[in-house]
Amino acid sequence: MTDLTKTTSRVETKDAASRNGELDDPRDLEVMEHVKGLLRFIGEDPEREGLLDTPRRVMLAMADHFHGYKEEPRDYLSRTFTEVEGYNELVLITDIELHSHCEHHMVPFVGKAHVGYIPDGKVVGLSKLARVVDAYAKRLQVQEKLTAQICDTIWDCLKPKGVAVILQCQHFCMCYRGVKKPGSWTTTSKLHGCFLESDASRLELMTLIGMKRNIG
Ligand SMILES: [Zn+2]
Repeated sequence: MTDLTKTTSRVETKDAASRNGELDDPRDLEVMEHVKGLLRFIGEDPEREGLLDTPRRVMLAMADHFHGYKEEPRDYLSRTFTEVEGYNELVLITDIELHSHCEHHMVPFVGKAHVGYIPDGKVVGLSKLARVVDAYAKRLQVQEKLTAQICDTIWDCLKPKGVAVILQCQHFCMCYRGVKKPGSWTTTSKLHGCFLESDASRLELMTLIGMKRNIG
């Protein structure tokens, strides 16, 4: 944890420092040298004018893409509310925008997350569920693992009657390289509690997600 904190402050001060020409942290310089190596690998000249600032920009973009390593997703679910007038029915957020990177090729996969849960006496702020999605998505991932991590975290922290997480994503490594199948979508789902045990709960969930699809 200490190491992560150190990284956070380093990244946050990096942009300001680099604007002032003070980018001399040896770790940053090392990262930028690696980016220059990649530029040479693809056949570019890292010293040409248009690319001079690219290593710094790539480093900052990477810090943003992989911001999730500096977050503890469980923290977002630590504050719950019990004054819900006994509402113990489905809470469903659909179409949460999702940007992640596959851990095999470090290229993007993007899509939507649908997150639903049935509370057991306590609820969490709706935006917090989207933050959990983001905190795991902004890491190197495989879609299956990402789905399970989001679902398991909500299940462990909120102890609801049921949780369902469904992800629908397009993978750049599948669409634009290798098998090259643009337009293909990958759907993954992980269910806990009543969504696994009760056909009625699962049907309600799928109907509501499907309804949104038809309206949208
Ligand atoms: Zn990949």
